[in-house]
Amino acid sequence: VRTTAPATENKQGKTRLPPGVVLDENGKPCKVCNSWQTWAKVTKKPRTSTRPPASSTTPIGSSIGAAVAAVTGTTETTTNETGEPKRPDDCPPDVNTLGRATWTFLHTTAAYYPPTATPAQQSSMRALIHAVGEFYPCTWCAKDFRDRIAEHAPDVSGRAGLSTWMCERHNEVNKRLGKEVFDCARVMERWKDGPAD
Ligand code: FAD
Repeated sequence: VRTTAPATENKQGKTRLPPGVVLDENGKPCKVCNSWQTWAKVTKKPRTSTRPPASSTTPIGSSIGAAVAAVTGTTETTTNETGEPKRPDDCPPDVNTLGRATWTFLHTTAAYYPPTATPAQQSSMRALIHAVGEFYPCTWCAKDFRDRIAEHAPDVSGRAGLSTWMCERHNEVNKRLGKEVFDCARVMERWKDGPAD
């Protein structure tokens, strides 16, 4: 199954999709599997603004403004301190926003899980983890998560085991994406206790 779009051309020689765009299981571009910057390349026509631009926006018609408008349906564009376009807060989630929010939920839930879980709690947690693998909107991320769960059964025995298990699964994604591996000894500091003063 092809997961990213090739630089395909139609009969008129026009490129249909930019290369590197992640497709869904049906071969269609998948919004929530891509970063918003990539999605902006897929969406061609900027839509009409539904609200007036704020004073911090760049002029309508700039290439950045057009790209953001294509994604957000607005012509509002803000930039960060280095002048890079900033994703508006009310955009539908892209792969990164959804990922960060989901990891926040999963790690925090693990950090507040009972130190020793009852059989009923273990069963609920197992179901929650499997549901993430089934319903996570980025379908390829979900498939990968299901594969990881099949390889490493969730440790739902209690807080420490679950937090470490979650950290290890996240690190597998980090490695695949070329990101830094997180020190799992620090999960409670990161997701519950905060740094020691
Ligand atoms: P994130 O990776 O989202 O991490 C958020 C914060 O968690 C970090 O700032 C750090 O403080 C902390 N952290 C980092 N690693 C760990 C760890 N191991 N344990 C505890 N805390 C940690 N994206 C893709 O492009 N392709 C995929 O296949 C893919 N699969 C995913 C599968 C799942 C189940 C989820 C939830 C997300 C997936 N993502 C995937 C999204 C990806 O993991 C990131 O969320 C996204 O790239 C944004 O990364 P980030 O650098 O902002 O930080």
